[in-house]
Amino acid sequence: MSVVEQLTAERDRLYQLVMEAPIAIAILRGPDLVYEVVNEHFEHMFGDHVPDVPAREVYETGHTIEVKAREIDNRFFDYKLAPLRDESGAISGVMSFTIDVTEHVLARRKIDEARTQAELANRSKDEFLAMLGHELRNPLAPILTALQLMQLKAPDTFQRERSVIERQVKHVVRLVDDLLDISRITRGKTELHKELVDLADVVGKAIEQASPLLEERDHSLGVLVPRALFIDGDAMRLAQVISNILTNAAKYTERGGRIDVTGSRRGESIELRVRDNGIGIAKEMLPHIFDMFVQERQALDRARGGLGLGLAIVKSLVELHGGTVSVESEGPGKGSEFIVRLPAADPDRDDVRARLGSSEMQPLHKRQHVLVVDDNPDALHMLADALEQRGFTTSRAHDGPSALEEAARSHPAIALLDIGLPVMDGYELARRLRENDHDLQLVAVTGYGHPSARSRSKDAGFAAHLVKPITVDEVEAAIDQLTAQR
Ligand code: ADP
Repeated sequence: MSVVEQLTAERDRLYQLVMEAPIAIAILRGPDLVYEVVNEHFEHMFGDHVPDVPAREVYETGHTIEVKAREIDNRFFDYKLAPLRDESGAISGVMSFTIDVTEHVLARRKIDEARTQAELANRSKDEFLAMLGHELRNPLAPILTALQLMQLKAPDTFQRERSVIERQVKHVVRLVDDLLDISRITRGKTELHKELVDLADVVGKAIEQASPLLEERDHSLGVLVPRALFIDGDAMRLAQVISNILTNAAKYTERGGRIDVTGSRRGESIELRVRDNGIGIAKEMLPHIFDMFVQERQALDRARGGLGLGLAIVKSLVELHGGTVSVESEGPGKGSEFIVRLPAADPDRDDVRARLGSSEMQPLHKRQHVLVVDDNPDALHMLADALEQRGFTTSRAHDGPSALEEAARSHPAIALLDIGLPVMDGYELARRLRENDHDLQLVAVTGYGHPSARSRSKDAGFAAHLVKPITVDEVEAAIDQLTAQR
């Protein structure tokens, strides 16, 4: 093939490329810029109505012009105009490339419109909720005041009825408060009053708030929160966060359940875990549980029903503090665990250092119900009294059968069992206790410390093995360790 033939073939290929390309291509020749070549797509797109593009400017300046979504005759185009040069480098025309993006633009407009509409609707919903909250709250205060006046004027009349009204009104007040809280939060109107707070203090406050429900539902509460976990935060709001989570744990756990609260430091964060052995949460619900108005159907306990706002408030408040909250559950019936992580206050700050010194001396904030079983009354009461002094609550039993009764009544988190018991030995008692309550943690207290005794107690389900004589410190350390493991 001759050079000329080769070049001709090459030109034909390029020509074909231009003609069949799925974008509109045209070549305008100067100086009049007449359309010399237009490809198939161009003809199809424009027919005889060639678009009005600034080809003259490109021709005269030699600059390339690229434009996105230009509207021409009710359609939208992306186009590019580039100068075409001859062999000497002089501009001889303009190349134009055009894509019709009308459909994209219209689709995007529709989405934008829908978003604006949704935002508008959302804003009016928020405003409506805020107004509803205020309007509902106003009449509640005089109702409560009237109740108090009735109590003063005629304390002996309608006592039962008054207490029903009071309880129900207070429930409504709580619901309305939630509503007001969430509408304030969603409209960005929540302010934190930050100070240096010790996690143990806010946990204490939260337990106080949740304890009527915890007690009413007969739950056993275990708390292990060391002192001096400092956060730069709003004490009231943090207590609200924890009390919301605790209240849920109490609501969504069958009577006589167990709830554990533990606090710890994780690097730069302070971590709080609230774990229950309640109804658990289905896997598909887990990602939505913190959304507004989300409630799991089976969990609806109308007697103490909420609005599905508690966790949305928790999440917003934790995030306002720069923290995160998450939830874990192995599914229905398997209990739930809520984990709050908050940034720890800088330990080098002067106020943190000053408080560190004094607060390390204070006892841990903890509470745990412990069953103590020993057939020696002195040993039994000495140990149980000592544990109570350290913040635990106890039940006491001197033999296996009464221990089983006590456990059924008081739902201990931990049982300290003497092994050498009359009637039913510690191993047998351990087996039966665990049969009734899989979560119960057992500590063996025996005179035998040799390896075979240890392995026997391990086999019987004991999580720890203490050898007499024991000190309260040892027992407390063992309990703390088990609580932390849970
Ligand atoms: P509310 O309690 O008012 O329904 P929340 O926002 O506090 O609203 O909780 C949302 C939903 O999350 C609850 O309806 C319940 O289905 C589920 N939930 C929350 N805490 C727990 C828990 N500890 N165990 C099981 N389910 C829970």
